[in-house]
Amino acid sequence: MLNNDCIFCKIIKGEISCAKVYEDGKMLVFKDIEPKAKVHLLAVAKDHFKLISEADEARAELIKYMLMKIPQIAENNGCDNGYRLVINQGEDAGQTVFHLHIHILGGEPLEQ
Ligand code: AMP
Ligand code: ZN
Repeated sequence: MLNNDCIFCKIIKGEISCAKVYEDGKMLVFKDIEPKAKVHLLAVAKDHFKLISEADEARAELIKYMLMKIPQIAENNGCDNGYRLVINQGEDAGQTVFHLHIHILGGEPLEQ
């Protein structure tokens, strides 16, 4: 299910443009508009939910599917020497978009 008031749902629906690098029926991957590394992609689930704690079986399968797809997508987009995956969860993590997404950061050595 998508949400009319969510920016990532609008991107999924094509109402807001993005620099898309991969899409299939379950996920969309595009470049972060404010990159925090040389390569900064966002893998966005095609289901509107905020937190991994909201994942039922189907959503857990969706997250698993995304994790299985990400290595090839990362390698194809300049992260062939490693990358970092980040899922911000809630206020203390600084989550700003409340639609589950996985940050893919790489393309250069990352600070620890
Ligand atoms: P967070 O919710 O903290 O995990 O991060 C949300 C990320 O979405 C931030 O890194 C933003 O730069 C990024 N972002 C917000 N709006 C857009 C957009 N329209 N296109 C691409 N990235 C976006
Ligand atoms: Zn959404």
